[in-house]
Amino acid sequence: ENLIGVLALQGDVHEHIRAIEACGETAVPIRRAAELAGLAGLILPGGESTTMDKLIRSFGLAEPLKEFIASGQPVYGSCAGMILLADRIVDPATDLGGQPQQTLGGLDIAVRRNAFGRQRDSFETELTFSGLSDPERPMHAVFIRAPWVESAGAGVQRLATVRIEGADRAVAVRSGNLLATSFHPEVTGQRGVPSELRVHELFIRMIKQEA
Ligand code: GLN
Repeated sequence: ENLIGVLALQGDVHEHIRAIEACGETAVPIRRAAELAGLAGLILPGGESTTMDKLIRSFGLAEPLKEFIASGQPVYGSCAGMILLADRIVDPATDLGGQPQQTLGGLDIAVRRNAFGRQRDSFETELTFSGLSDPERPMHAVFIRAPWVESAGAGVQRLATVRIEGADRAVAVRSGNLLATSFHPEVTGQRGVPSELRVHELFIRMIKQEA
């Protein structure tokens, strides 16, 4: 039994739990450090990274989460979760009452928050996502005030890109135990029935050490 945690301070926690359950695995919301013990993997959901940062710090979760990430257990971040996993933010929020926005880090990337905003705030598109058993089947991807990967270290694999204003921007990356997407596979589908489970399936294969 692989128990998967979803950080449940803010954001689309329930959608991730439902997607994991639709894959036949078990997911639980995580609010306290003690609950990280025994997890096989952790999801950092989409939402608002500045709010999550504030809550992570005020709940004393920053160090336990950094330790979990460093332990080698698989961690998947979608959207705001990608920002939390990034080692660097190009344009961190500075209006958080003193300290600038921080991340947990671990993933050797720099992200740009709300990166598509100048062009399109929120949009949906079809992507080619490598590393799947059927990479030629397009992935329907929902972007909501999403970040993109501005730059990445040599050890980071780009799994999907979006072409925008003549440049290919990475929107899905993996490095070792860490997986991140700019978009929200967990919100694809209707009436609570997820229709795009392949990112969550990939994450589960990482947990089972099959990918
Ligand atoms: N723009 C949000 C942030 O900076 C991310 C949006 C999302 O998770 N859908 O945290």
